[in-house]
Amino acid sequence: MATTDEVRERIEAFARQLCADLGDVDDSNSLSWLDAVEEQAVEIGDAVATALVEKNASRCPSVEAEATCPMCDRPGRYRGARERELITRRGPATIAEPEYFCPCCRKAFFPDDECDRC
Ligand SMILES: [Zn+2]
Repeated sequence: MATTDEVRERIEAFARQLCADLGDVDDSNSLSWLDAVEEQAVEIGDAVATALVEKNASRCPSVEAEATCPMCDRPGRYRGARERELITRRGPATIAEPEYFCPCCRKAFFPDDECDRC
């Protein structure tokens, strides 16, 4: 996903507002003031990246009462949402995905697996 000019402007405005809200960086436990500033910047970036991954990775597809089992092509019943932890470049992110159970194979399956990279 390319960042559009509008999204870039919103990110910059959000960053300026967040900096104003946070005030001065506490460098009392850091090697230096610059180290403290960089550490906080990385922490904020990681939190934004994790929220973005969690929001987008959990959105697809819609939940149905049944889904086709990838092993036997028979219908499996929806069992609920299962949380799964993804390891991203910016740290762990938790997503929710629908879990189904196939009574023929006696196994759970996750139709979203094919959608994880869509
Ligand atoms: Zn099956």
